[in-house]
Amino acid sequence: MNCPKCGKEMLRGSMHTQKYPFWTQQELRFFKAPTDLVELGPLDDDDTSVFTRDPFPEFPDAEICQECGLVVFPCKMIEKKAEK
Ligand SMILES: [Zn+2]
Repeated sequence: MNCPKCGKEMLRGSMHTQKYPFWTQQELRFFKAPTDLVELGPLDDDDTSVFTRDPFPEFPDAEICQECGLVVFPCKMIEKKAEK
């Protein structure tokens, strides 16, 4: 696909992380975890518990723009409740 930001052809590959990444709109402060976040897991991963998760998740069908660095990848959004 073409980059939605700059329009250049994107490179296809897979993205790898250590643990599930998370996404939030909150500003993170030192030593304070965000209270409102969603974890991003691979579409076919078993995310029912932290023990069944792949510790090195792979996100296939990721695309990166070599021009502006934008990365696009499909994922499952897992709501995480704030811990007390
Ligand atoms: Zn781009």
